[in-house]
Amino acid sequence: MTSTPVILLDVDGVLADFATAAVAVARGLGAPDLSVEALDRYDISTYLRVPARERYRERIRARGFCAALRAYPAAISAVLELRELGDVVAVTSPMPGGMTWAYEREVWLRDHLSFDRDHVISISAKHHVAGDFFADDTLEHVRGWSKRWSAPYRAFLIDAPYNTALRVQHPRGSLRDFVTYVRGYLATARDHSRDGAA
Ligand SMILES: [Mg+2]
Repeated sequence: MTSTPVILLDVDGVLADFATAAVAVARGLGAPDLSVEALDRYDISTYLRVPARERYRERIRARGFCAALRAYPAAISAVLELRELGDVVAVTSPMPGGMTWAYEREVWLRDHLSFDRDHVISISAKHHVAGDFFADDTLEHVRGWSKRWSAPYRAFLIDAPYNTALRVQHPRGSLRDFVTYVRGYLATARDHSRDGAA
């Protein structure tokens, strides 16, 4: 553990409500009954017939889509509390083919959650990013990061409708649960280092 813990936070599905906006697009393109609660997989385009999938992808990577996403109500207080525990860095996958996505994401994080641009990393292969804690709603990212850094208990799966059925060896829960988890983990680590020093 570094002296100031580095806390890596995913954005879509953790801070930004991508699913509600993406489901709205999918409903208009041939999945009228789809709801966020009913999602059982991450890729929303797969609920559409094949010809509509490219139109869906065009819409979600288009200018303005990322900028218009809503922040989850719990995000602001959670980020503030995490900043008291460590250095909070947003680690976010840019939308493939989105010409403005990464820039909109950077501005969004600044405007909604006061991230400066030195605390935003745009990357799809998130396992390359070093840190002390990692939170994401996509199990593949949680697994990949955990494996790379041999840190199963510092990789946290944020609950979402599309991952609740998955069995995992990692800690999991809401964003609020993640804050509690990090606080508890750091308190325990401090106690152990004190015991070790005694
Ligand atoms: Mg995500």
